[in-house]
Amino acid sequence: MMRNENLTQGAFSFVNGSSEMASLIRMKNWSGSPLGALESWPEMLKSMIATVLASPFPMHICWGKQLFLFYNDAYRPILGSTKHPVAMGNPIGDSFPEVWEQVGPLYQTVLEGQSVRHSDRELILNRNGSPETCYFDFSYSPIIGRGGQVLGVMTYVVETSVRKFAEIEKLKLSKSVYAINEELTTSNEELVQANEELMAVQEHLKQTINQLEESDTSLRLAVEAADFGIWHIHSLSRDFITTPRLRELFGLGHFEKIIIEQAITQIREDFRDYVSTTLENAIYNNGEYDVTYPVIGLNDNKLRWLRAIGRLRADPSGEFSDFTGVVMDVSDIKKDEERKNDFIGMVSHELKTPLTSISAYLQFLEMQISKAGADNLQRPVARVIMQVRKMSKMIEGFLDLARFESAKIQLNREIFDLAGLCTELELEFADQIGTHIIKFSGKESVMVFADRDKIAQVINNLVGNAAKYSPNGSTILMSCVRKKNIAMVSIQDQGIGVEGNEQVKLFERYYRGENNGTIAGFGIGLYLSAEIINRHNGKIWVESEAGNGSTFWFTVPLAN
Ligand code: ADP
Repeated sequence: MMRNENLTQGAFSFVNGSSEMASLIRMKNWSGSPLGALESWPEMLKSMIATVLASPFPMHICWGKQLFLFYNDAYRPILGSTKHPVAMGNPIGDSFPEVWEQVGPLYQTVLEGQSVRHSDRELILNRNGSPETCYFDFSYSPIIGRGGQVLGVMTYVVETSVRKFAEIEKLKLSKSVYAINEELTTSNEELVQANEELMAVQEHLKQTINQLEESDTSLRLAVEAADFGIWHIHSLSRDFITTPRLRELFGLGHFEKIIIEQAITQIREDFRDYVSTTLENAIYNNGEYDVTYPVIGLNDNKLRWLRAIGRLRADPSGEFSDFTGVVMDVSDIKKDEERKNDFIGMVSHELKTPLTSISAYLQFLEMQISKAGADNLQRPVARVIMQVRKMSKMIEGFLDLARFESAKIQLNREIFDLAGLCTELELEFADQIGTHIIKFSGKESVMVFADRDKIAQVINNLVGNAAKYSPNGSTILMSCVRKKNIAMVSIQDQGIGVEGNEQVKLFERYYRGENNGTIAGFGIGLYLSAEIINRHNGKIWVESEAGNGSTFWFTVPLAN
């Protein structure tokens, strides 16, 4: 039995209640404590303890300057599992060292006679073995003795941690709700904007579709008006899609089916290889396609000249291409051209015979003059011979043109040394072209497989032009080199040059440059040269700048 178990009367009456804390105070042996035996405690202290113990509200008092702590049952949970029961009757500072720096000064203030009140005061307590953030509402007021002196501190305390945490959570929640709301508002605004943009794009798309439809209609009308046939070739499946007009041009009924191989067999034999090679080249080398060829109608056996223009359109996937084009009937134009060519051919032929006789007579005359020593006649006769030679060359050109147009020209290929040919021609030029210095820089032989006469004709033509379009006395340089599997020849002059935009046109039939002035010509020399080189599967082009001379290049394949 504890020492004070029966002492519930008299001096102990202030702790005779049934509360847990009353019993704790009652049963504790106070005689060794700084407060001394319980019986000796001041009446005021006893009366305050009795008041605290009787309160259902969390309360404690801190007695004296050392602030001996006495608390009631309602206050006890605040002390957690570690501070109770040691705290009872001991200086409060000893029980709350972790917060004493914060609350100690408050007690001092109260000991000096002032009251203190705090709401939701945050304190980090170590009451259950680890630091814990807690919140309290409390009021500290002085216990005033009869003489007016402060005897201790009376405290009402409510722990508000649960409510405070709920509030903090609520605040956090409402902050995140606010943030989400903000985000929602922003994304809503973005959505509105995106929607507006989408509507604008849609509007634009509508307009584009309208324009496309319009241009499609105009294209259809134009195609119909021009009587064009249209075709598509898929580079992988080789599907050949055609319009009724195209089938008509190939002599088929509107609803008959046509496959590409059959269309090719209808091309006249002498053009077949040329057309199919050009077509394959264009399909697989991303090229454009513009060929004119004769076709024999399948059902009507009629010969039609067709011009097909096509262009490759790569699919964005990169896997296949669509080769699309139009075909038009150019039979009438072709007939006109044929008539014109026949006429040119016939006239040239008729002119050639008397010119050949004139040349022969002139050579005879030249010999006689030289025998007779009639020196004064030598120069004029030489001039006449030169003019006749020029005329012969021109007529030869027209005859060649006629031959090319009627595809009657044949290549007689042989293996020969192209550099050797250039050396030979260099010597001839020295005789024939006295107005310019002509130099050939080639040293090594370059063996090619080509028509020697035709290649000589091309070089003749290019050197003749170089002399024609550059000042007298200037130099013309010829070169012949080997590059990988081709031979390259260049003829460079210091003449009037060619504007960039004109450079491709020079090789067209009858094309004459704009800055020729009074220099005479028919615009067929380069066309013929290009035809010859193309038939050799070579290339011909010019590098030039107006006023700064030109370099004409051509290539032919090397002999294997
Ligand atoms: P022609 O000389 O009879 O006009 P060509 O077909 O030989 O016909 O040449 C076509 C055009 O190319 C010429 O009219 C000329 O404008 C231009 N041309 C050809 N060679 C040269 C050159 N070496 N320098 C400048 N222009 C040239």
